[in-house]
Amino acid sequence: MTIPLLTLNDGHTIPQLGFGVFKVDPAQTERIVSDALEAGYRHIDTAAIYGNEEGVGRAIAASGLSRDELFVTTKLWNDRQRGDEPLAAIDESLEKLGLEAVDLYLVHWPAPANGAYVNAWEKMVQIRDAGKARSIGVSNHLPAHLSEIIAATGVTPAVDQIELHPAYQQRDVTSFAKEHGILIEAWGPLGQGKYPLFDEEPVAAAAAAHGKTPAQVVLRWHIEQGHIIFPKSNNPERIRENLDLFDFALTADEAAAITALERGGRVSAHPDEVN
Ligand code: NAD
Repeated sequence: MTIPLLTLNDGHTIPQLGFGVFKVDPAQTERIVSDALEAGYRHIDTAAIYGNEEGVGRAIAASGLSRDELFVTTKLWNDRQRGDEPLAAIDESLEKLGLEAVDLYLVHWPAPANGAYVNAWEKMVQIRDAGKARSIGVSNHLPAHLSEIIAATGVTPAVDQIELHPAYQQRDVTSFAKEHGILIEAWGPLGQGKYPLFDEEPVAAAAAAHGKTPAQVVLRWHIEQGHIIFPKSNNPERIRENLDLFDFALTADEAAAITALERGGRVSAHPDEVN
């Protein structure tokens, strides 16, 4: 199994498939991330607000893998966007992770009520230039937020990590990203289990046709769309299942039928409302 590497707009590469740890209990994180690394994941997506960076760091340290075999992302939480706070926040995250630098550091939400996402992005550029993050990007940014931070700094984020699954594809964001060379990371790739995605006819039919699970069909659809994904599971069997996406391909008709499941169905909050 070879996980594709995508090239970011700064020339660095990122494994297209990783493992996300949102809502992974801090007390269980070391074990679950160790299971994921054992299964073959080499890209971990965490965040300061998840409270589990220490567990991710312990699993990395225990893995015996060399630093350059791993891709680690963490995120700046909304209450650290002002002034020099981002500079302190990255140091705290690196300490918890036991790393000298992350591969990717993201502004987690624009949180416009703070009035500080432009400042946060300016500080991300400093963090990158100081060598504490190899690449920098954003999350949950809509085209207006992206335009503003690019205009203010001349620096285009490497990625935008947004809610994206077949029922909610955010085409305004994905087309802006494409025009500007920003890769899309799809969070909640399985819709967080909040709507009956696996029972949708095109998903179930493709799963039956390829001898795959509905989850694998949806994840494969993301891979073929060019999204970076990091599905989350606490279950070792599903952790392995979610990696096993590279021995089949959807037909053009199957992919189109899944794309047609779009129904504007956001499962999480609007970015302008999260603070
Ligand atoms: P997800 O769509 O990956 O869904 C996870 C749910 O799907 C879990 O409940 C799990 O039990 C279930 N699941 C996983 N594999 C399965 C399988 N093979 N078969 C059946 N069910 C399966 O949602 P997520 O965890 O929210 O998103 C993935 C990652 O995205 C997170 O862990 C996190 O790293 C990131 N994320 C980022 C943001 C953000 O604001 N930037 C927000 C949410 C999540």
